[in-house]
Amino acid sequence: MIDRAALAMLDGALVKDVVFERGASARAAAIAAGLTDAGVMVVSTPSQRAVAEAAVRELGDRVGHWFDSPEMHVPSATVSEALAINGRLGAGCWLAIGGGSAIGLAKSVALSMDVSVVAVPTTYSGSEMTDIWGITGEEGKKTGRSRRVVPTVVVYDADLTRTLPPAVAGPSGVNAIAHAVEALYAPEAAPDLLALAEAGIAGIAPALRALCGPDRGAGGLDDALDAALLGAALCGIALGRAPMDIHHRLCHLLGGNHNLPHAETHSVILPYAVAHKSGSAPEAMAAIRRALGAESAAAGLRRLALDVGAPGSLREIGGIGEGDLDRIAELATGGPPHPVDARSRDSRERDAVRRLLDDAFHGRDPE
Ligand code: NAD
Repeated sequence: MIDRAALAMLDGALVKDVVFERGASARAAAIAAGLTDAGVMVVSTPSQRAVAEAAVRELGDRVGHWFDSPEMHVPSATVSEALAINGRLGAGCWLAIGGGSAIGLAKSVALSMDVSVVAVPTTYSGSEMTDIWGITGEEGKKTGRSRRVVPTVVVYDADLTRTLPPAVAGPSGVNAIAHAVEALYAPEAAPDLLALAEAGIAGIAPALRALCGPDRGAGGLDDALDAALLGAALCGIALGRAPMDIHHRLCHLLGGNHNLPHAETHSVILPYAVAHKSGSAPEAMAAIRRALGAESAAAGLRRLALDVGAPGSLREIGGIGEGDLDRIAELATGGPPHPVDARSRDSRERDAVRRLLDDAFHGRDPE
């Protein structure tokens, strides 16, 4: 049964309309067509081909183009291609059906063209709820915030997440939790945002265990699918309304500069980022402990990530070596070592982040 109190918190979203209903994705094409007199572009993840095909059939000659294999981290070459096609065809709306990669491409087009976005999320990335865009070029990943990229309508249909393999669902869910965690220790976060972030974690964490553990769906598969998607939606709202901190900075560097997989990287880094913040954010730690029912925020997150099948270390993910960690720590804390005052606050922070990365690389227990 859907948690009504959590459902009501969807009102806190930046997006204009949110639909949360099993089967509602069947209405997404009509919603997109209703937002423009011009054409509709469709971008879908390969696993949602059948849903996208149905939308394309329904839209008929209103479909401008169908992008069916969006790449992670939104390569700038793909954005240029999408902008050129949209410029030629003059579409007024992008319908994105899929995870953060599909939604990210639609948002990147909306950043520089006057199109609205309808998002039908099929993972727990939360991108559909944020004003954050990210585009990756030769110089790494650039991210920014703009109201232009916020979808007009988000359609959540938990039936579409039924096919998510646990190996994707687990890390994707921990990625969602990371969004809420950074909102919990954001300076001056509003009380409703704190409540929403805590509710998001409390909703998705047990649902992930039910979906990714050995007895998948034992307590009711449909309820777990709903709870996970609703929790992810709340976590996405939290990211949309709060600044990003050290956790997201590190993940963007690891993903954008080293092409590490997004959700898996979040899953590994999160417990260490939380351990790093624990001394300065006691209330956030208490909220995380309550939401997880754990005695320690960092250890509880680590336990959850491992329980849902996420990788346990950066070394296990691969793609970077220990030799890369100095540079990542420098970039995450604002540049190379201070030449004069080696004991400046910046250099102490850099050293602490370097230790964090070392622990994450080797998968040690977070302190
Ligand atoms: P993704 O969209 O690449 O999807 C991961 C994999 O799952 C893909 O292989 C995809 O085909 C598959 N998949 C998706 N839905 C499925 C389903 N229902 N059933 C079976 N398979 C399915 O990855 P993601 O983790 O959703 O998103 C990552 C991207 O989103 C990154 O580029 C990241 O930077 C971006 N992101 C952006 C924000 C933001 O606010 N802008 C927030 C979070 C993530």
